[in-house]
Amino acid sequence: MSPAPHDVILIHQCIGCGAIETPQPCLGGCHEHRLDLVPAEEHEAAAATVDALERLLAERERLLRDVAHSTLSDEEWAALRTRARAALHTPPIPEPADTVTTWKCDCGHIEAPQPCIGVCVRPERAMVPADEYTPILARATELAAHAERLSPALRLLAWTTPRPDHREATATALRTAAMTCV
Ligand SMILES: [Zn+2]
Ligand SMILES: [Zn+2]
Repeated sequence: MSPAPHDVILIHQCIGCGAIETPQPCLGGCHEHRLDLVPAEEHEAAAATVDALERLLAERERLLRDVAHSTLSDEEWAALRTRARAALHTPPIPEPADTVTTWKCDCGHIEAPQPCIGVCVRPERAMVPADEYTPILARATELAAHAERLSPALRLLAWTTPRPDHREATATALRTAAMTCV
């Protein structure tokens, strides 16, 4: 789920004062509206996290369904345990990106003027509207919470080695934990 190319806006941002401007001059007589932007790479990182969490959540749900329907023979149990250990690695949610407020006018010109502190050096930066980014980060947070709700059952599977006389009781507890999750 990479950002759609039409969402990426190339701006020039001064590395000293932080002033932002797009290269083409304003044609004049425009109305301006506020446009909050975040760096495109932070948007991409959030989208990549959503992809990774969707895959992780699918694997966790598949795994718990498999546990619920497994006879939990020694061999099956060992294979499910290996999958559970791998599925417990959760990708971290990126820190929220810093938003910059700019003004965009009808002609497409974008600026966020700053009192310049000297010579302006303005490399090009790829930005994305904060409106596109915010729901992606929220989705990542929501998926992580959903994945976390499945963790206790997976931890039980990953880290419990039943004593021989408790084998059946442990197997039943595992199946029950898995079934209540899926
Ligand atoms: Zn304009
Ligand atoms: Zn400057």
